[in-house]
Amino acid sequence: MKQVYLDYSATTPVKDEVVKEMIPYYTERYGNPSSLYSQGLDAKDGLEEARRRVAGLINAEPREIFFTSCGTESDNWVLEGTADTLKNKGKHIITTKIEHHAVLHTCQYLEKQGFEVTYLDVDSEGFVKPEALEKAIREDTILISIMMVNNEIGTIEPIKELAAVAKDHGVLFHTDAVQALGNVPIDVKELGVDFLSISAHKIYGPKGVGALYTRSGLKISSFMHGGAQESKRRAGTENLAGIAGFGKAAELAGKNLENHIEHSSKLRDYFWKKIEENITGVQLNGPKEQRHPGNLNVSFDYIEGEAILLMLDANGISVSTGSACSSKSLVPSHVLEAIGVSITKMNGTVRFTVGDFTTKEDIDYTVDVLIKIVERLRELSPVTGQEGW
Ligand code: PLP
Repeated sequence: MKQVYLDYSATTPVKDEVVKEMIPYYTERYGNPSSLYSQGLDAKDGLEEARRRVAGLINAEPREIFFTSCGTESDNWVLEGTADTLKNKGKHIITTKIEHHAVLHTCQYLEKQGFEVTYLDVDSEGFVKPEALEKAIREDTILISIMMVNNEIGTIEPIKELAAVAKDHGVLFHTDAVQALGNVPIDVKELGVDFLSISAHKIYGPKGVGALYTRSGLKISSFMHGGAQESKRRAGTENLAGIAGFGKAAELAGKNLENHIEHSSKLRDYFWKKIEENITGVQLNGPKEQRHPGNLNVSFDYIEGEAILLMLDANGISVSTGSACSSKSLVPSHVLEAIGVSITKMNGTVRFTVGDFTTKEDIDYTVDVLIKIVERLRELSPVTGQEGW
């Protein structure tokens, strides 16, 4: 059966060049970068090369890159570390209602520790308004955390403007750029951010490696305690093969950025046009402009996203649902809720994300299958055509 992977925002396939870069760190260059003999020094060289490459992709200085185990750890570190460092200055944090759970659940944890969190509203396309941010800032605000690109609906936030508001008020600014990396140009100097979280497995690198950019001159409490790795900021023997893979993936992402954006956005637009032309009762969630180049978030009237997902899977096609339902609980998507999508549309939402290996044939095949699935599910739906849907 034909296999079509349309979930690039969940994770990406690891590119061959990346795997090739990683293998020597398992076979020959397996020294510990903290060891003082030649093999350790060679491993350390590999580590620093990767740091230069990752820094290069976001125009940071290599010393501003601290490797972590994933984007989630980077988000946890910056929120908890800043809270701990600045708790005597203030206990107020600002974020948004559409952040990834790595940020939202950490904020909820901090609320239990006595911090106060303001969750900013977004507009119907998912944009955060700089004026709303300005209004929310208080004397005791210590950190603002706003994502660069939303993982569900693809909204690209005006981070430069938002960071400027934070700077005007002397408040530190963090952005979760996990979905942005490799999909939009990132220049930390131009953006004016203090902290930025990234992850390798969204840019054709390995899983289990991330980084936190920390602007030179800033230092927050550590999240991992132990050895002196990562300039004594993040303890733990480095996942060197993973980090080397991250470095290679970052180098490739930098070289390929323009082509990647053009390829993905062309396919995405073609995909949406075909859906719109062939299926009735569909709605695109998120913005038309300023959108992740590979993201399509679509609500199908009268039917369940999970049913679509399972039937697509039976035809070899991998996608995500927008409703974030787990097998155990039906939790509506906090992102779709925040942009005002009705609960019924929310339940019929699917996220398709395309990437470097997606082809026009993949899209044609998927739309052909999708037309049949939607027709079949609507035939079965007890609510087709009823008022309120
Ligand atoms: N932040 C965003 C916006 C994400 O989309 C993700 C992963 O999907 C994460 C953070 C977590 O990254 P990781 O999977 O590396 O922990």
